[in-house]
Amino acid sequence: MSGWQFDNRFVNELPADPQSGTQRRQVHNACYSFVEPAAVTAPALVAYAAEVAELLDLTAEDCQSDWFLQVMAGNRLLDGMQPHAMCYGGHQFGMWAGQLGDGRAINLGEVRNQAGQHWSLQLKGAGETPYSRSADGLAVLRSSIREFVCSEAMHHLGVPTTRALSLVTTGEEVMRDIMYDGHPAAEPGAVVCRVAPSFIRFGNFQIFAARDQHEELRTLADFTIRHYFPDILGVHEAGSAQSYLAWFERVCDLTVEMVVHWMRVGFVHGVMNTDNMSIHGLTIDYGPYGWLDNFDPDWTPNTTDAQGKRYRYSQQPNIALWNCYQLANSLHPLIEDSSGLEAALQQFQLSYVERWRAMMASKLGLADFQPSDEKLFAELEKVLAQLDMDMTNFYRYLSTEDRLLSSELIEFSYRKEELNDEDKNRLRDWLQQYAERLKSDGRDQRQRHQAMQQVNPVYLFRNYLAQQAIENSEQGDHQMLHELLNVLRRPYEEQSGMEAYAAMRPDWARNKVGCSMLSCSS
Ligand code: AMP
Ligand code: MG
Repeated sequence: MSGWQFDNRFVNELPADPQSGTQRRQVHNACYSFVEPAAVTAPALVAYAAEVAELLDLTAEDCQSDWFLQVMAGNRLLDGMQPHAMCYGGHQFGMWAGQLGDGRAINLGEVRNQAGQHWSLQLKGAGETPYSRSADGLAVLRSSIREFVCSEAMHHLGVPTTRALSLVTTGEEVMRDIMYDGHPAAEPGAVVCRVAPSFIRFGNFQIFAARDQHEELRTLADFTIRHYFPDILGVHEAGSAQSYLAWFERVCDLTVEMVVHWMRVGFVHGVMNTDNMSIHGLTIDYGPYGWLDNFDPDWTPNTTDAQGKRYRYSQQPNIALWNCYQLANSLHPLIEDSSGLEAALQQFQLSYVERWRAMMASKLGLADFQPSDEKLFAELEKVLAQLDMDMTNFYRYLSTEDRLLSSELIEFSYRKEELNDEDKNRLRDWLQQYAERLKSDGRDQRQRHQAMQQVNPVYLFRNYLAQQAIENSEQGDHQMLHELLNVLRRPYEEQSGMEAYAAMRPDWARNKVGCSMLSCSS
């Protein structure tokens, strides 16, 4: 048995819904509702993340035990667990959607590990809750693989994210209409155990503000600051307007940091609704996300968003800002000083620009950003887009090759056969400008390459690789899934024998469902 110590601060210190059970309802003046995971018939462990197990003081033996499987499938509760679903609201695609809440996520409690850290455990896909609305509270293997592998891959890429401990299949079938086109089919059910300092979202505050429940709003803000941003209380008095403003500034800052990382690795979240924004600045809720193959700033994998492309790659910083704006509105009753909130939002924009520039400089191996680099970056993005370049392989080539040859770089174009002279000249011109710029940069080539290889990955959980791993796993063959998990532990290192996982998107995947087109159905 685990020997886990639970210290469920969220449950112990915050108001609960007096009603328990799964009956759908509007939950007022409460942060959560008690609800138990649904039991499943034939759970099987597909994978676990050894690094996350270690954070939780679990051994490999623990993770392969029957108690672990039963707990991670929702069949069994350990002493000290207090399963509950959180109440939150949110803006979906720009519109206030009212109460949402954990519709298919059940928090088990907070483990206090031997190092004294608290980690919240959450089962995603463990059955109905009061917040499930008209849905079933379940998750399928397809979307669970996408969440499990990607959140771990993001962590190893250095992108702030929630983590994943385990992936189990339930032995039950779940009906899903993937493209919402009237063709539902049975898929294998699965549960992922997610792990994070907390799963508190912008939407947890929004729901209280929208309902004018200011006392609960204050209680939740105080809780959040006390446990997750305690240093603020060394400067500002607990409960003071300044403490809330200082905290809001921190959330903005963490959010900027997260989005800059997304832009660095070509990650498109796909559903940046305010209920999918963590107050820790962690990437959360892996749904119809995707990775840029060809560099197309207007790309979004989410077919539900195909019309307005609200959540396309290039729009992510603006949306993150818009989301922080919504959080600011919700916190206004506690702070009342609009100018302080506005200043924080202004600062968001300034920090974003500054950090984006520093990030781009690091991708290109420049020791620092010079004002004239603005043009170099802008032209590079145009070249990458115009030539349909594979973003990841392009930057990696710059990070490894001593002599930069446009003839070799052209291999990373998704339409290399069609490139005309103008295209090729544009690339050559840019390489020339870049080479000039490097001359004015202090470091030698070897140092530069070493630094570049820390920020320009070789391996990503590319959309087509995800789809292949899913198709294999659905047939009961998890070998590719395990191999990918392993490769993605060291995304910045070339790994011999694993070259195939760094390959550009093959032709068959260009317009395939699951590869370039994803819906919210999960
Ligand atoms: P998402 O867009 O995945 O963040 O989900 C938005 C809302 O829908 C959240 O409140 C989810 O908990 C809920 N939801 C999504 N899928 C399901 C499902 N299968 N069953 C119940 N609730 C769901
Ligand atoms: Mg969500």
